[in-house]
Amino acid sequence: QAKANGKGTFAVFDQAIGSQTIRTMELEVSLRHALEREEFFLVFQPIVAINSGKIQGFEALLRWQHPEYGLIVPSVFIPIAEEMGIISMLDGWVLQNACQQLRRWQQQYPMLNLTMSVNLSSANFMFSNLVETVIQVLEATQILGRHLKLEITESIVMKDPDGSAKVLEKLKEYGVGILLDDFGTGHSSLSYLHQLPFDGLKIDRSFVQEAQYNPQSLEIIKTIISLAKGLRLKIIAEGVETGFQRQMLQDLGCQLGQGYLWAKPLTKRDGDRFIADNVKAMML
Ligand code: C2E
Ligand code: MG
Ligand code: MG
Ligand code: MG
Repeated sequence: QAKANGKGTFAVFDQAIGSQTIRTMELEVSLRHALEREEFFLVFQPIVAINSGKIQGFEALLRWQHPEYGLIVPSVFIPIAEEMGIISMLDGWVLQNACQQLRRWQQQYPMLNLTMSVNLSSANFMFSNLVETVIQVLEATQILGRHLKLEITESIVMKDPDGSAKVLEKLKEYGVGILLDDFGTGHSSLSYLHQLPFDGLKIDRSFVQEAQYNPQSLEIIKTIISLAKGLRLKIIAEGVETGFQRQMLQDLGCQLGQGYLWAKPLTKRDGDRFIADNVKAMML
């Protein structure tokens, strides 16, 4: 009997191979061909105003539909792609496809000013032509820089503060927004917060979800929000699942949220429906 796995993805595979190393090697082999075989696709999670639920944009999240093993989540294949040195190709693909989809939605709903957030791997962030790639994709897809948000983590910045500053300043020139993802979970240094041109912080879902039961997590969220306000940074709460969490965040002055309360990461078509429903609801 295959051991039940939290994500339900590898039960059969685990049993058949039985070794983490071989499993990784197997995935490496298929990962090399996954792009050309068009096994990747994006899902899009709405980001909404906490108080009204009005859509402001989406975060693009990568999925791998493996021909044998089924759906594989990024926490499994991103580290392998980083190890293999192909993550910049993958992130480039995501950037291109996410902006293409944003373009379609913007054309359908010009008055919404929708934005798209794209995650950048730490392994790839400093790769030499990131800025060129971003500019090229914006041009090709006719997306304004200010409608694109790049999500990076603290570990990226900590590794090379000076190098990061240069890259971020260049992206800023094109109006591209920079969000600090999973804020509070990494090795943060508060000094970077005002030295680097961030536009916003994403509060990690562990704080959001614990705050209801754990006074210390609540205190951390309060502190993050007041810090962000003082530095004029936007705040986005991740992993909002309950009405209670939503109300708490609204009371604390958090502007934006994303989470299962509003929507899971959606296929393009479900994204269409979400926007249409949202527009209708906002007109009522
Ligand atoms: P992240 O950027 O912090 O993305 C948020 C994760 O939280 C997503 O997981 C999303 O599905 C999940 N989530 C959203 N709302 C809720 C909620 O209410 N409850 C719960 N329990 N979870 C929620 P996902 O899609 O598995 O992605 C995991 C991580 O993988 C992302 O964390 C991001 O760091 C990375 N990732 C995803 N797509 C890409 C990509 O295209 N490129 C790179 N480099 N990394 C990616
Ligand atoms: Mg993210
Ligand atoms: Mg996050
Ligand atoms: Mg996260």
